[in-house]
Amino acid sequence: MKLNALNKMTEHFGNSETMPVLFVGHGSPMNAIEDNEFSKSWADTGKAITRPNAILCISAHWETKGTCVTAMDKPQTIHDFGGFPKQLFDVQYPAPGDVELANETKAGISKTPVGLNYDWGLDHGCWSVVSRMYPNADIPVIQLSLDYSKPAQWHFELAKELAFLRKKGVLIIGSGNIVHNLGLLNWKDNKTFDWAIEANDKVKQLINIRDYQRLAEYDSLGKSLQLAVPTPEHYLPLLYTLALKDDKEQLSYFNDKMVMGSISMTSLKIG
Ligand code: ZN
Repeated sequence: MKLNALNKMTEHFGNSETMPVLFVGHGSPMNAIEDNEFSKSWADTGKAITRPNAILCISAHWETKGTCVTAMDKPQTIHDFGGFPKQLFDVQYPAPGDVELANETKAGISKTPVGLNYDWGLDHGCWSVVSRMYPNADIPVIQLSLDYSKPAQWHFELAKELAFLRKKGVLIIGSGNIVHNLGLLNWKDNKTFDWAIEANDKVKQLINIRDYQRLAEYDSLGKSLQLAVPTPEHYLPLLYTLALKDDKEQLSYFNDKMVMGSISMTSLKIG
């Protein structure tokens, strides 16, 4: 990263211990309002880690041509889903944005030009999780978009450039799902499909041996992964999280369960 960006960050937040990095399987938007094992675990995670100065979320639900970072003072709560109860559409998560952090994130990325975005906000991949972790909405939140025109390896390399933010008290959260096939949900009996279990296990095995190269080539990992990742957007946030792991850091899993037959909630914490 560029030195002037680092200096500016130091001015902005002061020094801080290195923050953990999370990948969160967000699953159904209902997790934002239901008290279930997943949302309780998100709340527990929020309490267990050092309070961040700010949050940077890479959500499956913000894909753009090119890479953008949200740069508004007051990001809107985006209800980017349909067919859910009014109670969910009524949720507002009024966390502030952080224009300075957006600029510093942009300055810290050399791989691609990063655009400052003023019309997105917080989509449900972000707020459904962050609102349970930090219900007071008093920590600034920004989002970084996924460039849909780029391959997985490119995202992995871009993500490495975000490492400096961890040292500045920024909690980076990748929000998606390792196994995510809405077309094959099991409405009949909720039983998890064998291919979904196989795919989730395969990904965890590769995470455990730090074979990120193969994880970036997920589409060549066989039929189970092709079914688990029919489109890349829910999988790519995992690569952002893994790219930020130092070899010596601890990695632990939480919410390691499957729902609706074809969605894994498997989440991980690094550091
Ligand atoms: Zn989603």
